[in-house]
Formats: sequence, structure tokens, C-alpha cells
Amino acid sequence: MSEMQTALVSRACPYCGELLQLVVDQSVPDQRYIEDCAVCCRPIDVVTWLDRDGDTGVELRRDDE
Ligand SMILES: [Zn+2]
Repeated sequence: MSEMQTALVSRACPYCGELLQLVVDQSVPDQRYIEDCAVCCRPIDVVTWLDRDGDTGVELRRDDE
């Protein structure tokens, strides 16, 4: 059984809709940070959490709402 510390997830940018690859640090269960979109450069509000099964949930939100 291997212990993963990071997860690679794909989510669409809430501004331009481009699919982005995000590396999520699973050693910190609940995170919230701003990451600029690699395509349109707008600031994305990234929220991550660890669910009961140990899977990482990721949600991208617009920072201007
Ligand atoms: Zn974008």
C-alpha cells in the first residue's frame, strides 16, 4: 500500500473554461488559496478538502463573485 502525498487533478477554469492540471498537497486536508490560471491569468479561488474515503475534492471558484 503506497501513501500518496500529492494528487494531480483536472478541473476547468471558472473564467475561460480551459482544463487545468492542479497538484494538490494531500498532507494538508483543507486548503484554500489563489492560483492564477495558466491560460487566462485570472486569479482562481482554489478550495480543496479530503473526503471520508480519503479522496481529494477540489473546487475552483471565481474570485470576483
Ligand atoms: Zn482561465
